[in-house]
Amino acid sequence: MTAGRGDAPGGGTSVVTRRDRSRALALLPPRWTLWSLRPRALAYVLTVDVLALVVAVAAFVWRPVVGRDWVVVALLFVGVAVHAEAARHIERVRITRDDRPFIDLKSMWTFAGLLLVHLGPALVLVTATFVYWYVRNEQHPPLHRWFFSWATVMLGTGAASLVLLDIDRGRLLVSTAGPLGLVVVALAAIVRWTVNHGLVVGIILLMSAPTPSVRRHLASPSDTLLGLGALALGAALAVLASVSPWLVPILLVPVIMLHRGVLVDQFRQASRTDPKTGLVNGAAWAEIAAKEIDRARRHHIGLAVLMVDLDNFKAVNDAHGHLAGDEVLRAVAAALSAEVRAYDAVGRFGGEEFVVLLSGVDTASATRAAERLRGRIGGLEVAVDGAGGGRRIGGLTASVGCVVSPTASGGVEELVGAADAALYEAKRGGRNRLVCAPPA
Ligand code: GH3
Ligand code: MG
Ligand code: MG
Repeated sequence: MTAGRGDAPGGGTSVVTRRDRSRALALLPPRWTLWSLRPRALAYVLTVDVLALVVAVAAFVWRPVVGRDWVVVALLFVGVAVHAEAARHIERVRITRDDRPFIDLKSMWTFAGLLLVHLGPALVLVTATFVYWYVRNEQHPPLHRWFFSWATVMLGTGAASLVLLDIDRGRLLVSTAGPLGLVVVALAAIVRWTVNHGLVVGIILLMSAPTPSVRRHLASPSDTLLGLGALALGAALAVLASVSPWLVPILLVPVIMLHRGVLVDQFRQASRTDPKTGLVNGAAWAEIAAKEIDRARRHHIGLAVLMVDLDNFKAVNDAHGHLAGDEVLRAVAAALSAEVRAYDAVGRFGGEEFVVLLSGVDTASATRAAERLRGRIGGLEVAVDGAGGGRRIGGLTASVGCVVSPTASGGVEELVGAADAALYEAKRGGRNRLVCAPPA
């Protein structure tokens, strides 16, 4: 796992461009972006980096390396390269986020290395893997970020090696180590994951101010499964390499299959998101709302559905163009999300219509919230670029239909239907107003 992006599109040019020169200049210590980190983050990064270097030196002092180890490291490195190249197209479309750890599936090879050779050569494999990743990455991450990622994996590997300390690797992998073998390998994997993941989350927390939430920055459950799955495959790879090394290439097929799995979560997310505004789409909103309505009924909590429709939006498009209209939609979406609480759900219902689910409200507080939303939209000044220079679009108004449960009954469809009817009432009444459905 690392704190940066994975592989990027390959290809390159042989002439030295201005960008190349500035990239080379960025390698000079006084220009390192490292120094722009806040003091606490800087101290943290430097501590982790120095510790990793200490572990690397200590590993070689601790135990002399035998020739066979280098052969194993070289073969595993070939595996890393084949894996990286085969998964290149997947990494290209994979979306990574700066506020979450990046799961690097090549960890399976370095974990297998730790199970097959001593710590020193295992750390050489980690380093070679990172160098390969850097060299083949067209968009080089800042050097300090890359170095820090390397350091976290070095320390994770070093910590895991403490679990394996004086255990005979050959016996552990090929002969009847019994249930203890399972415990030792599982423990080594968990220690490696925890140290690596913990250090990466640590820097993300230090860099996200002012009130970071640990839960938001941890790997998601499916990312955790993916990370631990890669280490489990690493264990299987180590066993296979010990018993029958020629069968190792066969393992590459399920490895790539697992690697494709990283996209499943991404596709699921995409299928629930409206690409224009980043809000959940209508179907996903209805799913969230159905659960929330169920919960509210069970606990006798009030809840409201608001249907928000921009007034005369066609005129905005006609006057400024559809691209400017899209900017306005994005700004409205951001404003609605910012105005409600984190557990209220805002979705894009369609065109210029938005739906909002407010939990734990009665008619009075729902009305106040709806008027606040209308006020927020009215106060928007959306900056748009155009052929004739930048412009600002303001003076927007919206009509809102509102329905409050338990005043109204039924499921999502009934509540949305009632909010929609109220919205039409607002439009008929002259627009720029809120209408709430009468109690059933
Ligand atoms: P009303 O006050 O009655 O709601 O008038 P209106 O013009 O807002 O409503 P109408 O339903 O006549 O038109 C909706 C407009 O919304 C027409 C369409 O071009 C625009 N629209 C829908 N989706 C999008 C979109 O994704 N981007 C942009 N720019 N415009 C959109
Ligand atoms: Mg409209
Ligand atoms: Mg409309």
